[in-house]
Amino acid sequence: MTINFEIPEFLVQQTQMVKWVAESTMRPFARDLDENEHARPDAFVQTMWPILRDQQKATLDKLQRPADEGDGEKKRSRPSTRVLGLMLLVEMLSWGDAGIYLCLPSPALGGAAIEAVGTKEQKIRLLTRFAEGDAPVWGAMAITEPGAGSDNSSIATTAIFDEETNEWVLNGEKIFITSGKLALEESNGLVIVWATVNKEAGRGGIKPFVVEAGSPGVSIGKVEIKHGIRTSDTVTIVLNNARIPADNILGSAEVQASRQDKGFKGAMATFDASRPLVAASALGVGRAALEFVKEKLAEEGVELPYGLPYHQLTAVQRDILEMEAQLKAAYLLTLRSVVMLDAGEHNSLEASMAKAKAGKAVTSITQKAVELLGMMGYSREWLVEKWMRDGKINDIFEGTGQINTLIVARRILDYSRHELA
Ligand SMILES: Cc1cc2nc3c(=O)[nH]c(=O)nc-3n(C[C@H](O)[C@H](O)[C@H](O)COP(=O)(O)OP(=O)(O)OC[C@H]3O[C@@H](n4cnc5c(N)ncnc54)[C@H](O)[C@@H]3O)c2cc1C
Repeated sequence: MTINFEIPEFLVQQTQMVKWVAESTMRPFARDLDENEHARPDAFVQTMWPILRDQQKATLDKLQRPADEGDGEKKRSRPSTRVLGLMLLVEMLSWGDAGIYLCLPSPALGGAAIEAVGTKEQKIRLLTRFAEGDAPVWGAMAITEPGAGSDNSSIATTAIFDEETNEWVLNGEKIFITSGKLALEESNGLVIVWATVNKEAGRGGIKPFVVEAGSPGVSIGKVEIKHGIRTSDTVTIVLNNARIPADNILGSAEVQASRQDKGFKGAMATFDASRPLVAASALGVGRAALEFVKEKLAEEGVELPYGLPYHQLTAVQRDILEMEAQLKAAYLLTLRSVVMLDAGEHNSLEASMAKAKAGKAVTSITQKAVELLGMMGYSREWLVEKWMRDGKINDIFEGTGQINTLIVARRILDYSRHELA
């Protein structure tokens, strides 16, 4: 497909406004919130929440409009820029602060799962809470368990249907869940929990369930103390005979799922949408570090001569140019995966490429930034050491760098997950 590398003017302007949010509600609070791990970023949440609520309302209105179903022609003539807009938003907010950004009051990954697997009725019913009310609401997604990390097809959380009460009964433990506490304890939010309806059926038995705040049998366990993104809450969710309504399964309960039902494939479809945004977050942190180093080096009189042969550059100049190249490569891969998503094209390969590359790029760029700035790079007086800690998560969640590289290799070489494990 053809990719236009120019960002539309209205998105350039939107990004400028987001930059203002980042500069006024994130950067000034970044250090304090990092030091006080579980404090909430109130200025950011209060600024962003009304904006996101109105956006969510507009999305819901569109979904409810019957005319929308029939205007395929119109859609084709004007390609969507929805995900591109999200990519730029996430990049800029993460430039502001990646941990604060993760506290964005939104459906987040839960919304991506509902989008990928839910019926139209479920989308409207479940997402309405993010579009109304007087208080911010959060969403989350829970796949990971003590015995299921990278290999998330070995999920042990069970979901059994109770015909007497017409409810699903969930049992299990989900760990390291981003915004789980915000969603279930601190707002009227929801978490998409992946559980098996039949262990023998392997991946075919794994289904997404909507666990809403206030559901009986659901509690928050351990609150993690972390290396980076310390403002973001990361928790264990305990499901002890948790009861949810029959209609809170997304898609079909059938183990031999019909072609329409996405089942576990829905988890993969969710990743196709979310991995480019994790890559975008990596880009934001990487850019923050790179800009800061360049600024500091410029203050010391170090220039960056573009276009000179390699052997005429100093080691520091080479390092900076290498950092720029890494960031640009990650940006271009992310842009491709996002534009494909907006065009409705299948982007699994490109999403994994972008995620793997951006996760590695932010890790090496931030580490190099600390190195180039010497003692002050390591000091907590500047934010560079924090960016090094924050950036690494992008190489871990939503599939680690190794796992995404494996997915890329499988897809390029046309191997199954059994042939290349
Ligand atoms: C801060 C944070 C927030 C998180 N948020 C969420 C969330 O919101 N929801 C959620 O469900 N989960 C979440 N997670 C969990 C995250 O998705 C997992 O940590 C991740 O999938 C890796 O799983 P694991 O930690 O069990 O590592 P493991 O699977 O045990 O892997 C350990 C190491 O081995 C490597 N490895 C594993 N298998 C292979 C292989 N086949 N080939 C090569 N290398 C391999 C991995 O890349 C990794 O480096 C979060 C984690 C963190 C740290």
